[in-house]
Amino acid sequence: MKLSKLASEIAESPTFALNEEARLLRERGEAVINLGIGEPKNRTPISAVLASGAKLTSGDIKYAPPDGLPAMKKAVIRYTEENYDRLVAPENVIITNGAKQSLFNIFYSILNPQDEVIVIAPYWVSYSEMIKMCLGIPVVVTPEDGTFIPRFEDITRAVTSSTRAIIVNSPNNPSGVIYPDALVSKIVEFCEQKSIFMICDDIYHKLTFDHQVARPAYSFTRNDVDLSHIIVVNGVAKLYGMTGFRIGWVVAPRQLVKVMTNVIAQTTSCVSPLAQAAAEGALNGLQSIVESLRLQIQNNRDVVLQEMKTFNGARLIEPQGTFYILPDLRAYSTNSVEISKFLLKKAMVVTVPGKEFGMEGHIRISFAGSVKDITEGIARIKWAFDPTSPNEIYIGDKKMIRDWL
Ligand code: PLP
Repeated sequence: MKLSKLASEIAESPTFALNEEARLLRERGEAVINLGIGEPKNRTPISAVLASGAKLTSGDIKYAPPDGLPAMKKAVIRYTEENYDRLVAPENVIITNGAKQSLFNIFYSILNPQDEVIVIAPYWVSYSEMIKMCLGIPVVVTPEDGTFIPRFEDITRAVTSSTRAIIVNSPNNPSGVIYPDALVSKIVEFCEQKSIFMICDDIYHKLTFDHQVARPAYSFTRNDVDLSHIIVVNGVAKLYGMTGFRIGWVVAPRQLVKVMTNVIAQTTSCVSPLAQAAAEGALNGLQSIVESLRLQIQNNRDVVLQEMKTFNGARLIEPQGTFYILPDLRAYSTNSVEISKFLLKKAMVVTVPGKEFGMEGHIRISFAGSVKDITEGIARIKWAFDPTSPNEIYIGDKKMIRDWL
């Protein structure tokens, strides 16, 4: 069968593939623990349920405008004013099917073939694949000092005349670090000087710990949104735990929003008004639910750090936000795919290999789930790798003995 070379070369999404593997194992009755997926366990906020329920019972669910329902855009404008201290126009906002579609549409709308985008490692898995789908070239910048924070000089050194954008994802998936204000401020200034877009993937921007903040890029420029080169991506998946509603949005210069609107109009037409109603309900409803989720995740973070303290050989940089840690397990193996495979086979724990995020020898562990899963999951990981941990463990009702260390 002859298929597109470009499409055939796109890598499978490792998180979705692992999720499916975990589901199949669970169906077979295995006591599998999924620390792979980044999905909070909360129920959908009631304001979102009521708003989408009202829309559904109206029986009036038709095409929506390709750039989003005016009421949803209004909610995003208010969100931007409250959280970014920026007043933007409806023409600066576009609603998409999740932040994923926001990012894809941005790349599709700003890249010509062979244009480059700077991606900072560790990076979210989908950036590179999306850039390649849009015929661009991802240029990876990796911090050389073992931290997860790049040096500004390393970023600028990677910039060429073909660079169109730099992606900044802080708080960062998969490391949980927040980039320092000074770095973000320098990137804003540099992008403005060079007329390069700064794509801020802010999907975790309020999921930060111990009063640390990820200051928005807008706070480092006086330029109007239309003149600045900042593109902000956000959505309801992580902060409101509404992953299944598939709602994201972009705030950007209106010229770009116009092009992105045509892309949506010619591809997916619009975002389901039912899902938009739910997201609007979440944004206009009680915001204390975001804080409750953050507190719950912060508590999970405390549990993770406590459990990781006794994991000999694992090197950990504490997360400042998100719900991920990216421990360095190179003391045990430099092959993260093998590490994750081994953990699934022997310990029935799903993790994501660091290789997928540009950090070989590390694994990503999500602590978005229950405290029980986190505690038990990390105990199993320690049992599998750390010879100083007890060599007997229960996995489900089976007593397992470690016989490989
Ligand atoms: N950006 C980052 C950094 C993410 O971690 C994710 C989801 O895992 C997304 C974007 C996509 O979000 P959405 O579910 O809204 O498409």
